[in-house]
Amino acid sequence: MKNFIFQNISLLKGVGEKTKKLLKKKKIEKISDLLWNLPQGFTDRSHVRKLNNLEIGKITTIKVKVIKYNFPRIRNLPNKVSCEDDVGKIDLIFFNSREGYIRKILPLESFVIISGKINHYKKKYQITNPTYVVPIYKEKLINRIMPKYSLTNGLTEKVYRKLLSQVLEKISAAPEWHEKGILKKIGNVGWRESILNIHENKGNDIKSKFYKRLAYDEIIANLLVLSEVRKRIKKYKKKSKKFDLIFEKKLIKNFNFSLTKNQESIINEINEDIKSDYKMFRLLQGDVGSGKTIISLISAANVIRSKYQVALMAPTEILSLQHFNLAKKIFKNTEVKIEFLSSKSEVREKKLILENLSAGRTNLIIGTHALFQKKIIFKNLGLAIIDEQHKFGVKQRIELANKGGKDCDILVMSATPIPRTLMLTLYGDMDVSRLIEKPMDRKSIITLSKPEEKIDEVLMFIKNEIKKGNQIFWVCPLIEESKKLDYTAAVNKYKLLSKKFNKKVGLIHGNLDKEEKEKVLNLFSKNELSILVSTTVIEVGVDYPNANVIVIENSNKFGLSQLHQLRGRVGRGTNQGTCILLYKKNLSGNARKRIKILKSSNDGFFIAEEDMKLRGFGDVLGYQQSGIKDFKLADPLQHEDLFKIAEKNIKDIENNEDNFKRYDYLLKLFDKVDIINEIVKEN
Ligand code: ADP
Ligand code: MG
Repeated sequence: MKNFIFQNISLLKGVGEKTKKLLKKKKIEKISDLLWNLPQGFTDRSHVRKLNNLEIGKITTIKVKVIKYNFPRIRNLPNKVSCEDDVGKIDLIFFNSREGYIRKILPLESFVIISGKINHYKKKYQITNPTYVVPIYKEKLINRIMPKYSLTNGLTEKVYRKLLSQVLEKISAAPEWHEKGILKKIGNVGWRESILNIHENKGNDIKSKFYKRLAYDEIIANLLVLSEVRKRIKKYKKKSKKFDLIFEKKLIKNFNFSLTKNQESIINEINEDIKSDYKMFRLLQGDVGSGKTIISLISAANVIRSKYQVALMAPTEILSLQHFNLAKKIFKNTEVKIEFLSSKSEVREKKLILENLSAGRTNLIIGTHALFQKKIIFKNLGLAIIDEQHKFGVKQRIELANKGGKDCDILVMSATPIPRTLMLTLYGDMDVSRLIEKPMDRKSIITLSKPEEKIDEVLMFIKNEIKKGNQIFWVCPLIEESKKLDYTAAVNKYKLLSKKFNKKVGLIHGNLDKEEKEKVLNLFSKNELSILVSTTVIEVGVDYPNANVIVIENSNKFGLSQLHQLRGRVGRGTNQGTCILLYKKNLSGNARKRIKILKSSNDGFFIAEEDMKLRGFGDVLGYQQSGIKDFKLADPLQHEDLFKIAEKNIKDIENNEDNFKRYDYLLKLFDKVDIINEIVKEN
């Protein structure tokens, strides 16, 4: 019985190849998947109406006697069945139904229950293709409140209900996996009871105790997986790394700024981790522009000092190039040998880089995900740093943790502000350092919005800024995130601006090769170009403190968090930063809201929360990219209380290894068995 709901959907009566395909479109493949396709609403068929008082257009249930058939022999004319009760008459109209079928479900003189939408034709009531026709003894099945599901074309409610009812009939009460105390806190309802209520009795309200019980199940299932990851990674003993702070101090002296208290304390935290007997697995979280990179490079310096190698990985070539250039600056006049590797590096060059790496001649390697490849062999990797981690997934995290081998520490950095409720769910396997304090001399960015017609005003403004020696980012985002990189908008703008600004304009987009990119970026960093026109390639991480104005075209097409990331490219130096949002006329309500929020706040955390309200949290955190699936039921904004309970609960569970067994069935329900096996296997 237990196994029934984990079987393939084709086990159910009425699922042939065709239905199977339709169900697959709705991501329903196993029987249990039906349970998570929640009703979108309910149709009340519970009142049986008499035929003298029907409401046109309303879904209604009636009890009638079949009186007469009319099967026209002309094609395309519908079949008609006349029915009556003691006070009135109605016609049932059937398109595309065979006579034999109609005779079978509606035998003459029999009493039947019909449910469907009432309409009117030539002063007579009728129902066209009624949703339900059942004999009187099955009355109970129909005249009730019925759930409505979001289905796909070709899959009827009737067929779907038949499948679901086979499942609901069969599910038995599973032994309770939650402890009594927990159960009480989340509404004290059992699993089966909750499933039935959600599908049959309007229990699908997100705040109902039935819904909450199932959402809690889902949260715990996720935390159990992370718990497993944490066990694997945290318990790793490693050889502790030994270093003094002479090198660190020497580097810091060369900066033209002093570190914030917050930066200092995080560097200490990381140093402690590096020196300890346990593998570090730490997330450094801080808003855009808060100064994470410096922290990571100082950590790198200390690990190099202890005679290990370091790898620094970033999601884009531009960003990793920039880290490379910064690292070269910081380690200037030291013995540290730094190299750069991306998937675009030339073969011969690559070979040399790999040789230097495996021989231990290279101390610090910086690059894109190319650093993950199998053929990359380190002599003794001691620290792996992953920048903008939200672009990489949980699996890659584990891969990297393993790749470095026993003695490799892991530091990941992210600018995505994660709501407290989700922290444990997403990063429960890591220690977290939060960089809250922004560098002192940072002025907040002024955000303006302008319709595109007023572009002349914008040009005037930037002309003035350029006069003062400042620099401008001009972003023409790709409208469609299509594979073909469409950068025509950027090219056109580049031409236009080049004319107006006397060639002091550069262009950069994803299709340029490394040398070209580097050349343009180099000119920009030396202030030989005043304006850098780009697609969204500059979205994450790039750092040009002298650029203090960013113009974003088509800003109405983008999510809040993305705009905030883009805006974070400026205001990094000491000059006042300005962000100008250009938009096309006729803004939608939501776009107007987004612009308003951006103008009112510079706080990444607040913005992320607003974004989640507008778009849902799954989209904001980019789960698709990170490989973590969206929750099916739980909602971090609506179920904050549940997340809090779960946070404590999981700690208790972890205190006793035996506890895990209780949750086997739960893990199966939420499809977590494979991933757990994978984690266990990889270690
Ligand atoms: P992010 O956290 O977004 O990765 P970066 O590390 O790129 O931010 O830092 C943003 C800018 O702030 C860089 O130009 C960096 O040199 C500068 N910066 C970092 N720390 C400080 C500090 N303590 N004082 C002044 N400027 C700093
Ligand atoms: Mg960064």
